[in-house]
Amino acid sequence: MTGEGAVPAVELRSVTRRFGAVIALDGISFAVGGGEFFGMLGPSGSGKTTCLRMIAGFDVPSTGEVLIAGRSVGDLPPYERDAHTVFQDYALFPHMSVADNVAFPLMIAKVPQAQRHARAEETLERVKLAGFGKRKPSELSGGQRQRVALARALIDQPSVLLLDEPLGALDLKLREDMQRELKELQRSLGITFIFVTHDQGEALGMSDRVAVFNQGRIEQLGTPDDIYDRPASEFVATFVGSANVIDGALIGAAPQRFALRPERVRLVAPGVAQLVPGIKLSGMLRDAQHLGADTRFSLALDGGQAFHATLRHGDEEEIAARGRLGQAIVAVFDRGDLKPLAS
Ligand code: ATP
Repeated sequence: MTGEGAVPAVELRSVTRRFGAVIALDGISFAVGGGEFFGMLGPSGSGKTTCLRMIAGFDVPSTGEVLIAGRSVGDLPPYERDAHTVFQDYALFPHMSVADNVAFPLMIAKVPQAQRHARAEETLERVKLAGFGKRKPSELSGGQRQRVALARALIDQPSVLLLDEPLGALDLKLREDMQRELKELQRSLGITFIFVTHDQGEALGMSDRVAVFNQGRIEQLGTPDDIYDRPASEFVATFVGSANVIDGALIGAAPQRFALRPERVRLVAPGVAQLVPGIKLSGMLRDAQHLGADTRFSLALDGGQAFHATLRHGDEEEIAARGRLGQAIVAVFDRGDLKPLAS
């Protein structure tokens, strides 16, 4: 990562992008360090892709500035920027072999053929596709096609790789394997990755830092721990994982709102609640949803507010709670698990 005083690999300064009446980016500023894995997370339409396209050079800001390695790149077309893009739909040429697809940027740069082939083979090896050069994209699986797209973006050794939902088209198992591989690849290459996703697990699991986008703005920028354990706003708390938002008045605290993760909540029968330390809210146990390893319980608190608790499937407390569906229950949690929300 960039040390103190080092020039950021990528920097946006007050970038705004308007499409008619739509404000896709509303004064975005951030800096990404060299060698950093930077995640851009947010719901559909929040501005992530527009932001990435600004860095790649496929779009230009209405106002503001984009810098790559400290140089303003407003006047540079995509192919002259030291930042290449991997698209979700791969954008491979179907009539060209895998090796020619990978070597395409070198062909444009007029690198001699022998050298192109050697570099393509080397890069295919890096993405674990050695020996696949002669195939056509149609003869590959989805995951393999994604690796070809990755190899093509990497072949002329950019300092920054921009990835727009690169794993979006893959099934869950393959997606998890590719997440690990991408992270390893980024570490071994030591280059900057800027990664767009709407999948919070993917963003938190892979990134050194995450920018959470909402309506063209960055709601919070921080490490995965910052974002998850110290959400800055109700939007971040509920978009990244799920959260109970609790009004201070409900628990006799100051008039402020708090986020409480459902996995920090215990569920106990009213008869034994006084034996359990912590803040208590009583209500009715409405529903239990099987999530695989966990069960998510929905409650209606006595005041009517919806509330959630997540317990490990098969634990004693979880089994007991399932036995109390439709009955009174007490939710218990520690004060320290209440995270104050700024907005
Ligand atoms: P997704 O996850 O669905 O790709 P996103 O967070 O990447 O969403 P953007 O694609 O950046 O969001 O879009 C941000 C906003 O800008 C949206 O309201 C979108 O409709 C609008 N927008 C993007 N490109 C254009 C365009 N070329 N013309 C008009 N509006 C656009």
